[in-house]
Amino acid sequence: MKNYVFWFVVGSHLLYGDECLEQVGMDAVKISEHLSSVLPYPVEFCDVMKSNSDITEIISKANRTDDCAGVITFCHTFSPSKMWINGLSMLQKPWLTFHTQFNEGIPNEAIDMDYMNLHQSAHGDREHGFIGARMRIPRKVIAGYWKNSEVTERIADWQRVAVGAAFSKSLKVMRFGDNMREVAVTEGDKIEAQIKLGWQVNTWGVGAMVEVMEKVSDAEVDAKMDEYKEKYDFSLITSEADIETVRYQAREEIAIKKLLDKEGCSAFSNTFQDLYGLKQLPGLASQNLLASGYGYAGEGDWKTSALCAIMKRMGKKVTDYSDGLSVFMEDYNYDLKNGICLGAHMLEVDPTIAADKPRVEIHPLGIGDREAPARLVFENKPGKGIVASIIDIGGRFRLIVQEIKCIKPTQTMPNLPVARVMWKPEPSLTVGAECWIIAGGAHHTVLSLDVTSEMMRDFARIMDIEFILIDGDSTPAKIEQELFVNDLVWKLKG
Ligand code: MN
Repeated sequence: MKNYVFWFVVGSHLLYGDECLEQVGMDAVKISEHLSSVLPYPVEFCDVMKSNSDITEIISKANRTDDCAGVITFCHTFSPSKMWINGLSMLQKPWLTFHTQFNEGIPNEAIDMDYMNLHQSAHGDREHGFIGARMRIPRKVIAGYWKNSEVTERIADWQRVAVGAAFSKSLKVMRFGDNMREVAVTEGDKIEAQIKLGWQVNTWGVGAMVEVMEKVSDAEVDAKMDEYKEKYDFSLITSEADIETVRYQAREEIAIKKLLDKEGCSAFSNTFQDLYGLKQLPGLASQNLLASGYGYAGEGDWKTSALCAIMKRMGKKVTDYSDGLSVFMEDYNYDLKNGICLGAHMLEVDPTIAADKPRVEIHPLGIGDREAPARLVFENKPGKGIVASIIDIGGRFRLIVQEIKCIKPTQTMPNLPVARVMWKPEPSLTVGAECWIIAGGAHHTVLSLDVTSEMMRDFARIMDIEFILIDGDSTPAKIEQELFVNDLVWKLKG
């Protein structure tokens, strides 16, 4: 990960004179220093913008600077917006209009016309807002006092999204084999994905993985086994044959990681219909890899895999993205009486969201025609979250996000040989499912406990893809109406 920074571009105008502009600059330094001390990425004050050429130069430089993940603007004084047009027309970085004011209140005694000219964001940022709206440039607007932690938390979330967007633009996805045969929703236009989202999605034969596996040394497998024993519960792995089964997964993980790292890929997918030369479908191998930050989705689902990698980067622990709480998930079964969804997958549930130490177990698979693979079995952490699905709806991508509440699984399910996750969807299991199905959301999702629906809306805006939210206020009729209008809008957008 790069050391991303955000540029703080502060609007003013020459007519206010040197003394006022100097004060604007000093105030801007104080704001940027405070923001840098509380946000996940630093905010660098650029300069006070006084003219068309100042703005054009700074935006052009922001576009060329790889480490600059976004531009934050604030008009301390009035800053006539026609001087922003040339610069903003070329802006390629995510843009946040931060509508704040240097002083939190109105100073009763001190306020006079000079003070009003200096502290004028109340109308300066409205002029600024007009030009953003007039030019139809996608942007985020956050209003509030710059020392207020609720305000800075929202800026922090936007920064994480902007970094996720930068990551998306260079993301490479490795596919082992093609999509599972006859499945529709995992298909999609990879050219469109690269144009809109930047994803480079390419295929490698599973035989390439087998070749690398054969060259993995016993010492490498020993080291990986030590890591597994440290992180996971081995109480059910008792015989020599069991150990050999787990060692095979270790060998698979090492080989997959070597291939991903060699090609610079941060996400991958595979399919149980293409296991040429493999004795076990990767289970524990994939699970441990996912927990270290790689994106994944099964059955060749490159879209969910890519989204998973991006959402992991958007997670709260930005210095150690393996702690981002976003995982590949699949809807499996319902408790219709209590409005609960059970999510799992054949093998590859990411232990990132495990409530306790995951247990290594070995069970045969009903499909895939291979030896019984080792996998991790565990229950999820509880908490508020979302599930997100990205689909190719024909002519555009649609990102569908539903708010959920993960709960401690209500049943033990002793014969279910995989990790299990339970949640209550908004507004309810059945109404939510009606909305989801009307919108065309997939059975594969990314479930997250630290990326919010507002962050996903911001991501969709930055990437210029359709966004549909299912929350506590959603109804099938409202969703249907929104989709109907969206279809027309996106066709007009071309
Ligand atoms: Mn699946």
